[in-house]
Amino acid sequence: MKVYIETYGCQMNEYDSEIVQSILFADGFQEVSEVQDADVLLMNTCAVREHASHRVLARIGEIRRSRAGAPLLIGVLGCMASGLKKKLLDAPNSPIDFLVGPDSYRRLPDLIRQASRKKQQLHDVRLSKCETYEDIYPRRLPGVNAWIAIMRGCNNFCSFCVVPYSRGRERSRSVAGIVAETHRLVAEGYPQVTLLGQNVNSYRSQGSDFAALLEQVSAVKGLRRVRFTSPHPKDFPRPLLRVMKENPVVCKHIHLPLQAGNDRVLSLMRRTYSKQQFLDLAAEIREALPGVVLTTDVIVGFPTETDAEFADTMEVMETVRFDSAFIFKYSERPGTLAAKKYPDDVSEEVKTQRIVRLNSLQKEISLARHLQRIGFVEKVLIERQGTKKSVEEVQGRTDGNLLVILPAGAGRPGDFIQARITEATAHVLKGVVEPDAA
Ligand code: SF4
Repeated sequence: MKVYIETYGCQMNEYDSEIVQSILFADGFQEVSEVQDADVLLMNTCAVREHASHRVLARIGEIRRSRAGAPLLIGVLGCMASGLKKKLLDAPNSPIDFLVGPDSYRRLPDLIRQASRKKQQLHDVRLSKCETYEDIYPRRLPGVNAWIAIMRGCNNFCSFCVVPYSRGRERSRSVAGIVAETHRLVAEGYPQVTLLGQNVNSYRSQGSDFAALLEQVSAVKGLRRVRFTSPHPKDFPRPLLRVMKENPVVCKHIHLPLQAGNDRVLSLMRRTYSKQQFLDLAAEIREALPGVVLTTDVIVGFPTETDAEFADTMEVMETVRFDSAFIFKYSERPGTLAAKKYPDDVSEEVKTQRIVRLNSLQKEISLARHLQRIGFVEKVLIERQGTKKSVEEVQGRTDGNLLVILPAGAGRPGDFIQARITEATAHVLKGVVEPDAA
């Protein structure tokens, strides 16, 4: 059978799609690059925000219509499958044939075959306490970065977040397995790996914590860069700062999700840190790692958030001066503690005003921080040929994960070059090759 996969949401989903491909193609399924050629459509979905679920359902409807009655099995994978099982299967004329949660991908070949024979809806959305797909090597596309999931699930139960329900409890892979995968990736030519976990601080395997794992991965011969995402501010491991400082292979970028800057809102969110603790941690990181790039996530309009409480978030953003931020309006997710306990009572209009103000503040800060880099030389890993504006330009990333556009001929994907930064906007740096830089 020919399979077409569409992936939505975070990097963990991208990685899971690679696992799914590996499982299916080892079992004789074939990949196609056009949905029109497929017998099976798999939608690997995200449930973190409401609009992501709507998008997937709209897309499924669109594909069903475009196939005009031609047979096509449609399976929903990932977080939406776990969280919205009843809603998806019970909907009248549901266009979905099967649902498979993130811990049941080993059963996919069987479920697809059964669904094609039985013509009835099937599902397996059970969550596992131990599944990590440790023995499955993902089927990756060629590129300069390879994702490695070091753990799955989350035990934190932040009140707004669906992940602990859709992806289950925390489980870590072994250090040996992750290091072996890194060796193999380096041998295949990947210069960079990114270690993924919902909260990497919780990584534990046979006495090793995340800092110890990172140290071992960074020691893999031939690896040029290792990134990770994301640590939780509540239990940021201080030994991690030492590993980052002492090891040039570990990129100096930390994504540190703030979510809110007011103590009462943080408490309702169950984030278990205060505004002051977050500020102290950010200051400690900047002191330990001069030049580090700090980025964050923020939610505006959490239930009952007042204007004064939102002002605290603005204040934290002004004080920490993140290099960039992903800012979202609060979106109630069924099944979460916030959905059960706190009515979504901040109006859409107020949420919009807050997100506009925060985005505008962040844009000013990002621009100011980027402008400070003009004239300096950065080591850039070229990621791809072609940019939105020109097929001739190339784009790459600094050690701190800042996007840099370079002129045609600056290098090929996978090359490391020294670039002098010449221009900056709030979103991107521009540079030229610095031939004499060390
Ligand atoms: S740490 Fe909180 S926000 Fe992050 S995945 Fe876990 S529950 Fe969700």
